[in-house]
Formats: sequence, C-alpha cells, structure tokens
Amino acid sequence: MSQRRKLTLEKSMNAPYSGGCQCGQIRYEIQAEPLTLYVCHCNECQKQSSSAFGMSMTVSRDAVTLTKGQPKQWKRVSDKGREVSCWFCSNCGTRLFHNPARNNKITNIKPGTLDDTSWLKPAGNLWTRSAQQWLAHDKDMLNYEAQPDDFSQLIERFQPK
Ligand SMILES: [Zn+2]
Ligand SMILES: [Zn+2]
Repeated sequence: MSQRRKLTLEKSMNAPYSGGCQCGQIRYEIQAEPLTLYVCHCNECQKQSSSAFGMSMTVSRDAVTLTKGQPKQWKRVSDKGREVSCWFCSNCGTRLFHNPARNNKITNIKPGTLDDTSWLKPAGNLWTRSAQQWLAHDKDMLNYEAQPDDFSQLIERFQPK
C-alpha cells in the first residue's frame, strides 16, 4: 500500500465525529476516538429513549464541543445513589449526552444523534435481565445481567470505526 493511500485510510478512521438533535438546533463535534460503545436495557434507558433500550458511546468529556445551540440539563440519581446529568434539546427533546458524576473525565454520547451511525457496533449489553423479551442478544458480545462494576472489558472489546 502506498504511503498516500495509507494516510487517507487512517484519516477516514479518525475524529472528528459530528452529530446533533432531531430538529437541528443543537449540533456537536467530538475531537477524539470513542472509548467504548454499549447497549443498556435498564428501565431508565427504556424511558429516556422512549424505546427498547439506550445506547452509550463513551468519549473523553473535553473532546466534545458544542458547535450550535445550548442544550438543557436534567439530573437524576442512579440506583447506586450517584447523580447523572442528562442533556437534551429543549426544542425537540432529543437526548444528547449523559455526564456521570462517578467519572467527570467522560461523557456518554447518545449515538443515535451522530450524523453517521452506519459504523456503530456495540461491545456489549448491560442490564439484560430487564431487556424486552423479543430481543435476542448476540453471544459474541459482552452480556451483563446488570451494571458491571468495571467497564475495562467493554473498553478493550470495542472496535472503533
Ligand atoms: Zn432539537
Ligand atoms: Zn441504562
């Protein structure tokens, strides 16, 4: 492979990633490669997505820049008693980011808001015990009945773009 072609391919694997809410009032950019991506079937994620499950793409918090608009914040307390700040568009209601108080270095992007979702491949499923029963879990993914104490395997297993 020529050096030039190699550089082109490497570039296509790299940040920035862009995304935004459904109505377009909020836009963001991510200037780093994601750390992991997982699916969560807990009841809170079913509520927040108003659907079957939530997805979280973990990125370094300082790599996320708002390029348009200002999202609104709503806070909830997790079952472990920790606060999660949930950011959403106040016009269309799309959930964009979750900032967990347990780790102020990361943010969880709601990856359905990315402009390109075609490359997303989650490393695992969380809270499979509350998953909707029609869903089949891929045996090759990391499947956790509830919340894992440690996310290192999810980070290791994740294949970026
Ligand atoms: Zn919006
Ligand atoms: Zn969840």
